[in-house]
Formats: sequence, C-alpha cells, structure tokens
Amino acid sequence: MEKQALLYEGKAKKVYATQDPQLLIVSYKDDATAFNGLKKGVIQGKGVINNQMSNLLMAELEKRGVPTHLVRELNPQETLVKRVSIVPLEVIVRNLAAGSFSKRYGVEEGLAFAEPVLEFSYKNDGLGDPLLNDDHAVALKLATREELAVIRAYALKINRLLQGIWADRGIILVDFKVEFGRLADGTIVLADEISPDTCRLWDAQTREKLDKDRFRRDLGGVEEAYRQVMERLSSGL
Ligand code: UDP
Repeated sequence: MEKQALLYEGKAKKVYATQDPQLLIVSYKDDATAFNGLKKGVIQGKGVINNQMSNLLMAELEKRGVPTHLVRELNPQETLVKRVSIVPLEVIVRNLAAGSFSKRYGVEEGLAFAEPVLEFSYKNDGLGDPLLNDDHAVALKLATREELAVIRAYALKINRLLQGIWADRGIILVDFKVEFGRLADGTIVLADEISPDTCRLWDAQTREKLDKDRFRRDLGGVEEAYRQVMERLSSGL
C-alpha cells in the first residue's frame, strides 16, 4: 500500500489517501502541541512510540471485542487504517481527577473516583473544545442517541481493558481521550490514537507522570517517559 495525496495534516499526524478509497495511511509526527496549539515543541521519537503503542493497544482491544480502524502497521511510524468519518466528539474517561477536571471543579489531582467519569467535548479548536452533554450533541447533530449509547459503552469497555493492561505493568490509567468514527456503512469504530499524548499514565509506586503532562508542564524527561511506558507496555503483551 502506498501513500498518495496528503489529505490532512494535524498537530501530531498526517493522513494520506491510498489506491483503495476505503483505506488511509496515518503517519505519526514527533511534533507536540498543548493548550490548543499555544505551546509547540518536538518530542524526539514520539512518532514511532505513539504509532506502535496505539497499534498494540488497538489490536488488543479489537481481540477483546472493540472494533477499531486498525488494518496493519506499515512501518515504525505509519499505519494503514480504515477510512472513517470522525464523530466530532472528544470522548474522555477519567478514573482519577486531573487536568481540566481538577481545575474546573477545584479538586486536587489524584482524587480517585468510585466510578469512571465519562465526558464529551465538542471537537472544535475554534471554540476551545467545549464540554457538552448528550442533548447538546444531539441538538448539534454531532451524533444520534443510538450512536452516543454505543460510544459510551465502548468507551467504558476500553477503560476497563486499558486499566487492566496498564495495571499489570505498574501503571495507573488516570484518564484518556478517544475518538470514534463511522465506516461507510455507519458502523462505529474506535479511531485516532491511544498514546501518552492522549492518556494520563502514572507510575503506580511513585505516582510519577509518564505522559504528555511532562511536556505541558515543562517537567523534563519527556522523551524518557515516553520510552519507558512503551518499554513497559511491550514487555508482556
Ligand atoms: N486529551 C487529549 N486531547 C485533548 C484534550 C485532552 O488527548 O485535546 C486527553 C488528555 O491527555 C488527558 C485526558 O484527555 O489524558 C483528559 O484531559 P483534560 O480534559 O484534563 O484536559 P487537559 O488538562 O489535558 O487540557
């Protein structure tokens, strides 16, 4: 499968057409942004790690009954995926308070919830990805009620599966963001990526942050943290 026209270039990935109209190639970049593009930088080696980690995790989820866009990894930095139309929602699942949740509700980072918290944001950079509920999403025709129910069930299942995978490796899954897409026939599948760019991952022993917060908050050791989580993931999958 070969890359044809560049269809889209985002903050962390490029997407190319292929000879097959139903398939696309995703190419992961080392570029990093935070705070809606205000902070920019490069995390050396991130493209390869995010590509490989996302593929390992999606293959595992697929095995356990979550349909994904993954077709196959083409090389360390590029993957063949099914073409989807993205549902313009950022689907966030939280197990512990952190980031915007802590800020919004004034609670300390690390507060553990009795049940996972699921939230939707409208994927719209111009508006700053505002939080929304099911009624808002339906009113804006971002998804149907039925689709939202499917997305919610998959998101919670993904959370259970990923929590287990990371717990086995001494890592706490604090929260994560996923995106879903529709195949040509309307089937909802997991799309985008699952990586330290999109998950908060803390060492279970030391509570050290092993994710993009090291970049967002200038904590140093960003590359090393990405390498370490990838190494811990690969040992034993
Ligand atoms: N997240 C993401 N992309 C976004 C916003 C959030 O991948 O545009 C991830 C983020 O890495 C974290 C989770 O979603 O794992 C929850 O993020 P939060 O809402 O706390 O926002 P943040 O504090 O990152 O702005």
